[in-house]
Amino acid sequence: MDLFEYQGKQYFARFDIPVSKGGVADTDDEAVAQAEAAGYPVVVKAQVKVGGRGKAGGVKLAENADEVRFHAGNILGLDIKGHIVRRLWIENSSDIAKEYYASFTLDRPNKVHLGMLSKEGGVEIEEVAVTNPDAIARISIDPTVGLDLQTATDWVERADLDLEARDQAAALLVKLYRCYTEGDCDLAEINPLILTTDGRVHALDAKVTLDDNASFRHPEWEAFAWGETEDPREQMAKERGLNYIGLDGTVGIIANGAGLAMSTLDVVNQVGGTAANFLDIGGGANADVMAAALEVINTDPKVKAIFVNIFGGITKVDDVANGVLEALKRVEISSPIVLRLDGTNAAEGRAILQPHLSDRLIAEPTMLDAARRAVTLAGN
Ligand code: GDP
Ligand code: MN
Repeated sequence: MDLFEYQGKQYFARFDIPVSKGGVADTDDEAVAQAEAAGYPVVVKAQVKVGGRGKAGGVKLAENADEVRFHAGNILGLDIKGHIVRRLWIENSSDIAKEYYASFTLDRPNKVHLGMLSKEGGVEIEEVAVTNPDAIARISIDPTVGLDLQTATDWVERADLDLEARDQAAALLVKLYRCYTEGDCDLAEINPLILTTDGRVHALDAKVTLDDNASFRHPEWEAFAWGETEDPREQMAKERGLNYIGLDGTVGIIANGAGLAMSTLDVVNQVGGTAANFLDIGGGANADVMAAALEVINTDPKVKAIFVNIFGGITKVDDVANGVLEALKRVEISSPIVLRLDGTNAAEGRAILQPHLSDRLIAEPTMLDAARRAVTLAGN
């Protein structure tokens, strides 16, 4: 899960990484209140999970309440690379002497953590990597060893940060590494990490990606759920533990395995239809999972037909057939369902469904036939 900047800063603060004082606002009145609390001048910052907000007009300095109101009004609702701004972060403005870059992420092939530090921060790091690769000091960290202050101090020196920033930067990097490892991040990035005109080093931006596989040991991550998905279908699927992505078409799709689900989208497209979603129910498609999947798809008013495409492997088709029938007892489905069931115990599965087939529950022998039928029923 990616965090918004303000959430990333809240996370940093837990690990004692210095950030500016500030607060969130969803309206221009709230923005003014937060600015008064933080103290002028402030920065009004768009909260969207995409970089380059500054260039897109999503980061503005304000000296007083009128300016805060003006900028908040302009930034709320702004479209930044397809992300609509619904929340602002207002923080006490910093006087910047230098902008650096610092991050930790996984170096998977080498099974180590990769730290990157540069005195050329502020701009996109990809740009620095291309135009001035020597300006990035890298460090490989063995996860069983970690990062101590001495190593961080050498690293900061190698990156050639300004002398007055070095001690603070080294201490901050050790904290950032702790945040990254103990905090179970896949990425912890600060761009820019600044040296202020009065000689303080702190995080002016925060880009944090949490490792979802570690969520079981972080109940506090619940607090980061705001704005994670604006799509009510995705929200509902998430609550039911389904691997679902909402799309704009009219054919609802249920498949087992991500590969088959992707192929199902392709084949629906190929015969002139449009998919309403991606939904992989994974292995072991029992009645509960099938009912949950049908329920989510059923809430989508655009769906006109549902295509259930199951290839039995470890999952047996007769179990799936029973699952579908059981699910249909529990959920009232408004669209016709087209089934393509193949693989392990396919004949047994089809026999189970046979007496229940109708113009609302249709079986087709192949994936292509089923796609055609579903697309026709959807009226494409
Ligand atoms: P991004 O564009 O999405 O990466 O947003 P950032 O939070 O990194 O802000 C972009 C730029 O705005 C920074 O690189 C700074 O130059 C500038 N900026 C952000 N906060 C402040 C601040 O408190 N004071 C000043 N003077 N500039 C700021
Ligand atoms: Mn930034």
